[in-house]
Amino acid sequence: MADVLLKDVNKIYPNGFHAVKDANFEIKDKEFVVLLGPSGCGKTTTLRMIAGLEDISGGTVKIAEKVVNDIEPKDRDIAMVFQNYALYPHMTIYDNMAFGLKLRKTPKEEIDKRVKNAAKILDIEHLLDRKPKQLSGGQRQRVAVGRAIVRDPKVFLFDEPLSNLDAKLRVQMRSELKKLHLRLNATIVYVTHDQVEAMTMADKIVIMKDGHIQQIGNPFDVYHHPNNVFVAGFIGTPAMNFLNMKVTEKDGKIILTEDKIVFEVPDEYKENLKEYIGKEVIFGIRPEDIYDQKYYNGNHTNEVEATIEVAEPLGAETLLHIVISGQSITAKVDPKTVVKSGEKLTFVFDLDKMHAFDKETQQAIF
Ligand code: ATP
Repeated sequence: MADVLLKDVNKIYPNGFHAVKDANFEIKDKEFVVLLGPSGCGKTTTLRMIAGLEDISGGTVKIAEKVVNDIEPKDRDIAMVFQNYALYPHMTIYDNMAFGLKLRKTPKEEIDKRVKNAAKILDIEHLLDRKPKQLSGGQRQRVAVGRAIVRDPKVFLFDEPLSNLDAKLRVQMRSELKKLHLRLNATIVYVTHDQVEAMTMADKIVIMKDGHIQQIGNPFDVYHHPNNVFVAGFIGTPAMNFLNMKVTEKDGKIILTEDKIVFEVPDEYKENLKEYIGKEVIFGIRPEDIYDQKYYNGNHTNEVEATIEVAEPLGAETLLHIVISGQSITAKVDPKTVVKSGEKLTFVFDLDKMHAFDKETQQAIF
């Protein structure tokens, strides 16, 4: 079993900076967990504490049921793949991959078997005699992963391993790493600030901000049921739209208003909004839940007329940037929609997909 458990884990750097605050989460055996958040949120610090490269200021880290707080990195049965790959330039690829095993005094035949096996898994057998500078970025990245594979660790730790690759290669390596996870049957903890990487690869995402965990869930949950305004805005591109709207009640209906916009809240959400009558809430809706009325087939009547600021046809869909009641909104509409900047269009908002957040606490109401 290669479960990793963090219990009330804190990191306070020697200068007093509190980088990780009461982190609690579990990584199950064979799970692919992504630590996700903006720059400086504490995800690398968390990973480095699991690796043993950073002291833990408070709390407990367990790997495979054993408390590892005071155990040296080399004795934790983990392997880390760094952002810069950290390959030795003067060594061949073979020697780079064999290096860690040699240090551990692994027998030569065993090293040979493991290096060749890892090279085969990663399709880099033909590169073993080369030096790192004779390799492309993607190939170097594979070598860095290979060096971790030969160790046959309980847990793989990845620190933004794709950030030095160009966009196309990143997409390719993303699916390769996912396939590799299935093939190795390994536990993986992976740090990134790229929400698309997190959504496409993770079994479970741990979203952090300012040292605090904001939400833990699978990609579907964090996308469809964000806990708060931060998670709602961070996950998804283009980002969720937010509007401040006033909650009122009329003839037993709950109504949201903002300037000329009047939305009737679907029955399923009415109860949740009752305590907010007379107050403002943050209304949220994803771009794909706003339709060009001409191509809308549902039965909603929540129509809003708006002026197009910019239209971006992307082929499979068209993004429309519009201004409603002085607030900027993005709609992802049918690609058959053809409009120019300055033109008016009627949109339908699918309120079954709406979100609402408490204005003060920023927490999701539903
Ligand atoms: P990035 O995506 O930019 O790498 P991150 O989420 O991985 O960001 P960390 O590297 O974990 O962030 O850093 C978290 C916070 O701790 C940052 O504000 C950073 O400036 C601070 N920090 C990191 N290392 C130290 C250190 N040795 N001493 C003091 N503060 C530090």
